[in-house]
Amino acid sequence: MEEKYGAHNYHPLPVVLTKGEGVFVWDLDGKRYYDFLSAYSAVNQGHCHPRLIRALTEQAKELTLTSRAFYNDKLGIAEKLVCETFGYDKALFMNSGAEANETAIKLARKWGYTKKGIPANQAVIVAVKQNFHGRTTTIISASTDPSAQSGFGPFMPGFEVVDYDSTSAIEKALANPNVCALWIEPIQGEAGVFVPHDGYLKSAEKICRKHNVLLMMDEIQTGIARTGKMLASEYEDVKPDLLILGKALSGGFLPISLVLANDEVMLVIKPGEHGSTFGGNPLAAAVCVEALQIVKDENLAENAFKLGLVFRERMNALIKKTNLVTLVRGKGLLNAIVINDKHESDAAWNSEAEIAWNLCLKFAENGLLAKPTHGNIIRLAPPLVITEEQIHECCDIIEKVVLSMK
Ligand code: PLP
Repeated sequence: MEEKYGAHNYHPLPVVLTKGEGVFVWDLDGKRYYDFLSAYSAVNQGHCHPRLIRALTEQAKELTLTSRAFYNDKLGIAEKLVCETFGYDKALFMNSGAEANETAIKLARKWGYTKKGIPANQAVIVAVKQNFHGRTTTIISASTDPSAQSGFGPFMPGFEVVDYDSTSAIEKALANPNVCALWIEPIQGEAGVFVPHDGYLKSAEKICRKHNVLLMMDEIQTGIARTGKMLASEYEDVKPDLLILGKALSGGFLPISLVLANDEVMLVIKPGEHGSTFGGNPLAAAVCVEALQIVKDENLAENAFKLGLVFRERMNALIKKTNLVTLVRGKGLLNAIVINDKHESDAAWNSEAEIAWNLCLKFAENGLLAKPTHGNIIRLAPPLVITEEQIHECCDIIEKVVLSMK
C-alpha cells in the first residue's frame, strides 16, 4: 500500500514492522529483530518505553494542544528542565529537527543584525561540506549532497560552505565580518558517522569567540546520550551558543525539537516573529520531561559509552578476519562500518552500495535491522537500553553475516 499510495521519497528495507519493545521490533509474521537504526537515533530510550506510554496517555487525557496563544501548565516545566540539564537561559520548542535548525538560522541572523551590527540582509552562516540538517528549502541551500539539491532550486543565499574538520577553513571563512554563525554537527551522522579530529570542535569554538560569531551546534542525532555523553560537544568541553536538539527528546513518541540559547541571543526574537502551532504543546512537554528523566535515571549515556567500546572492539576484531569491512568509526553507540569498495564481490553485486544494501538484507534475515547511509557505509545505532549480552549477540550476527559473504 505504501508503494502504491505513498510518495516514493524513501527506499525502505523490505520489512513491515508492527510492534516494538525496548531494543526489539517485530514484523507482521512475528519475526523479531534488533533495531540497529533506532529511527535515526530518535528511539534512544527503546521502543514503547512504559514510562513514556504512561506520560503520553495521562497527559492526553488532560490537555493536548493549546497553541502558544495561551500559557499551558506543562511547557514551563519542560523548558526549566532542558535549560537546567544543558545549562542555558532559555529554550524554544518546535517539532521537527528541520524546524529547529530553521529556528536557529533565524536567531543567528537576527542576532547578527541587532547585536553584531551586520548590514541588513548581508548575514552569512558558515556551514560545512557533507552536512545534514534537514530538508527545507533553506536548509538544503547549504547542502553539498546532489540528491538533496538537484531540481529544488532556486536556493537561499547567505550560506558559505567550507571543508569539514578543517580549522583553517573555519578561520578563513569567519574573518568575513558579515558572518553571524558557524553551523556544524559534532559528528556527521547522515553523511556516514564522520568523527572530526580531536580538538576540532574546541578550535571551532575559539575561532567563533575570536570573530564574535555564534557557534550553532546541531546535536539532533548526536545529542541525548547517543555518543556516550549527554551531548557530543561535551567530549571537547564545548558550549555552543545555539544548541539544536530533536529526535530522542521524545523517545520516539512525538516530533519534538528545540533550540537552547542564553538571553542575549534568544531574546532577539520578539513576540510574533517566530512560532509554530504545535511547538511547545503540553503533550510534547510532558513526554519530553519523562524522556529526559529516563535518560538520566537509566544512565543511558554511561551505557552508550561503555557498550560503544565493546562494539568497536568487536568490529575491529572482525576487520582482521575479512576484507569486506575495512573500518569501524563512531562514538558511544553511534557507529558505522565501511564496506570495502575494492572488494571482489559476486558478479551480481556491481557496486559497493549494492554490497552494503545486500549486507543489510542478510542482517535482517538474521534478525538485525540496519540501513546503509551514503553508499558503502552502514550506520549501526541500537537503542541505548541495549545490554552488554545483547551487544555481543548483535556483533555475533554481524560477524556471521560478514564472514558468510565470499
Ligand atoms: N539534523 C540532523 C543532524 C539530523 O540527523 C536530522 C535527521 O536525521 C535532522 C537535522 C532533521 O531532523 P528531522 O528529520 O526531524 O527534520
